[in-house]
Amino acid sequence: AKMVYYFGKTKTEGKGVSKAILGGKGMNLAEMTKIGLPVPPGFTITTEVCDMYYKGGQKLPKTLSNDVAKCIATLEKELKKKFGDDKNPLLVSVRSGAAVSMPGMMNTILNLGLTDTSVVGLANATNNERFAYDAYRRLINMFGDVVMGMDHHSFEEAFSKIKLKYGVSQDTDVPAQGMIELCEAYKAVYKKETGEDFPQDPLKQLELSIEAVFKSWNTSRAVRYREVENIRGLLGTAVNVQSMVYGNMGDDSGTGVAFTRNPSNGQNKFYGEFLINAQGEDVVAGIRTPQPVAEMSKWNRAVYKQLLEIKDTLESHYKDVQDIEFTIEKGDLFMLQTRTGKRTGAAAVKIACDMVKEGLIDEPTALSRIPANDLTQLLLPSFDAAAKGSATVLTRGLPASPGAAVGALAFTAEEAVLRTQAGEKVLLVRKETSPEDIDGMHSAAGILTSTGGMTSHAAVVARGWGRCCVAGAGEIEIDAKAKKIKVGGKTYGPKDILSLDGSSGEVMLGEVATSEPKLSGDFAKIMKWADEYRTLGIRTNADTPADSKRARDFGAEGIGLCRTEHMFFEDERIGIMREMILAEEEDTRRKALKRLLPFQRKDFVGIFTAMKGLPVTVRLLDPPLHEFLPHDSKAQAEIAKEIGVTAAKVSSRVAQLHESNPMLGHRGCRLSVTYPEILEMQVTAIVQAAIECKKKRIDAQAEIMIPLVGTAAELKLLREKAEETIAKVKADKKFDGKLGILIGTMIEIPRAALTADEVAEYAEFFSFGTNDLTQMTFGYSRDDINTFLPDYLSKEILPVDPFQSLDASGVGQLVEMGVTKGRSTRKKLKVGICGEHGGDPASIDFCHRVGLDYVSCSPFRVPIARLAAAQAAI
Ligand code: ADP
Ligand code: MG
Ligand code: MG
Repeated sequence: AKMVYYFGKTKTEGKGVSKAILGGKGMNLAEMTKIGLPVPPGFTITTEVCDMYYKGGQKLPKTLSNDVAKCIATLEKELKKKFGDDKNPLLVSVRSGAAVSMPGMMNTILNLGLTDTSVVGLANATNNERFAYDAYRRLINMFGDVVMGMDHHSFEEAFSKIKLKYGVSQDTDVPAQGMIELCEAYKAVYKKETGEDFPQDPLKQLELSIEAVFKSWNTSRAVRYREVENIRGLLGTAVNVQSMVYGNMGDDSGTGVAFTRNPSNGQNKFYGEFLINAQGEDVVAGIRTPQPVAEMSKWNRAVYKQLLEIKDTLESHYKDVQDIEFTIEKGDLFMLQTRTGKRTGAAAVKIACDMVKEGLIDEPTALSRIPANDLTQLLLPSFDAAAKGSATVLTRGLPASPGAAVGALAFTAEEAVLRTQAGEKVLLVRKETSPEDIDGMHSAAGILTSTGGMTSHAAVVARGWGRCCVAGAGEIEIDAKAKKIKVGGKTYGPKDILSLDGSSGEVMLGEVATSEPKLSGDFAKIMKWADEYRTLGIRTNADTPADSKRARDFGAEGIGLCRTEHMFFEDERIGIMREMILAEEEDTRRKALKRLLPFQRKDFVGIFTAMKGLPVTVRLLDPPLHEFLPHDSKAQAEIAKEIGVTAAKVSSRVAQLHESNPMLGHRGCRLSVTYPEILEMQVTAIVQAAIECKKKRIDAQAEIMIPLVGTAAELKLLREKAEETIAKVKADKKFDGKLGILIGTMIEIPRAALTADEVAEYAEFFSFGTNDLTQMTFGYSRDDINTFLPDYLSKEILPVDPFQSLDASGVGQLVEMGVTKGRSTRKKLKVGICGEHGGDPASIDFCHRVGLDYVSCSPFRVPIARLAAAQAAI
């Protein structure tokens, strides 16, 4: 395979080559070159070479150096400069770039090619000695850091000495002579720490740097980032070698980063920062404070205009928001990078709607652009306006990533992780974050920094995750060692709680109350489009009128799973429930059930009313009975007293109900087989509630779902019992209208899926209970999986947690078989899914493909499911 791809005026070889091979950075450098943008020429070494490097025992392929030398020769010709030259030297940057952007994870080396000889050449060619030696000392420093793994402290010490000698405090004030001395000092440090001279052969420098980039692919922080972001299956990183341009040649030069639109709120306004007389990472590193990009017109009108034009060219080419890096060398603009701009959920929604309006993309594209899970951010609560009005605002930073975060202060990443694991809500407070802080940033409820701009590490990473972040709150003095911050003359520590508003940048004292989200504006528009394109129905899992109403507001078209067991835990009901369970005879059991009936009926009336004519699938009692009884003797004694039996009786009943494998025990439909009176009571409550609603002209659409069926015979028996009960209630109530109650089952035992054709004889609908189905297919206990799941994920035995995302190739086969076999018996069989997977976009895609009628998920995931269903259909 071709190992190296050139981009420049001479030729652009990367045309049409995939991101997987060239990496994102390399592909887009080639693409920008091709569409005529000013990109410094260079070449890309493919990710396949990285793969070869690791497979070959960490050795570069033999022929690579030859290919690289050829590209360098082409560069020399194109730029009329020579590598290592003493008159006009070619310098390059060595940049990593995988197929997926991993901000700040791998280091870049700038000014490569400088040696004792070529530094003189650079000084002559640019007529700027200080600049040349400044570039050289940066190279020695970066090379020492990145390639040789040196501790940068030793360099800092040498720098301090020079500054002291020349009586200056700023790096920029060190004169040319000082820089020359500094280079000597750096070389000495380099030799002392590595035992070798700083390499004076540019090709050797290059080779070592290429290898270092490949090595950085497997540093622990890069590996950890891929883990956190669930990035798998990549070959490795590509290496981009690109001729240098200099943003640090004086006040007519500079460097910057920008987004073509606001990545925080989506506004169509050029957004970014730039720094005059600076190189490379100075903008993101937060060393000096950059200026907003709009200020550029005052500094250099022509360049600003050109940049705006490039912005439009990029957007119309990529048809999406771009995140760009650029450098101005003596008034000439160069593009160094472009990539799809990470954005918050809110920005994604606004940008998608705007771009449709602008005619840039169509509706299906707009829908497929929004990561369905990112809608969660729009469904998070925001601060209640009234509560905010009366809150004490301590200070204001930059609104770097929207959201409302409340928590106590944590001062290091480790602390944030530990305290979050212990169940606390914390805000990570740092001067600025760096890639080492990833874990802590991920666990924290919000991130607060005192330096750093809108494109700082903290801001970029937080926006990527939709985590609330306030950056650059400069009035806050942080003392991480003493674990305290000082603001407005007051000090706050680890126990103090603050509230962060990521949309306004406000930092407030104490816990400010939040309010519920709404579907409106662009969000509503996206939902409307989603409904037009999707074919899957969306239901919700709800068992209270409040949840039912919320789900309806979010667009649910029915309830796919109404669990009845929750209803037995409230107030006085649990007592009656326990009486029922403790009863020895059917007679006493029936008496207790009779007292439960009105409660159940009332619940159902409430839910049917809230769902106004939409179907409601009610699942009959599912958990093993011991879950309703307490297990410690003190509580057992109290219950005994309440019910008027002996404590010994309670404890013996608990012992009797004990099971070794409760999840495979006496539960689900097995309860109704043993105690048909429980089913009778529940069905009676459903039918009575339906009749009561009908009388009030509320169209109740009840569906009775019998759980945990494994054989057709079980369902046959219980169906008959339910039908008898329905008839009896109708007769008792003298109701002869139509109720249209359906009777169906959950398919959650593998045997039910395998014999779905038989089961369908007695079921008008199936609902796949994929939680239990996954548990029983894998044989993984859902409640204990965390003891081994992390190992399974890190060893790549499992790609994802199968309880979060449906295992399409295994469990999915049972679902598919269940659908096909079920419909072979009953053509019009209604089929849905309930359980966690119903709200997971990847699983929803699977459900669409196997022809399910609907998915059912928790109320807050309904909008996500609507969008994911549309994406599956597009
Ligand atoms: P990252 O992936 O961390 O953004 P980059 O490879 O983009 O790393 O490089 C880091 C910085 O160096 C960026 O600010 C970029 O603009 C600058 N840079 C990279 N290559 C060059 C070059 N050839 N000339 C000038 N600056 C460069
Ligand atoms: Mg970059
Ligand atoms: Mg179940």
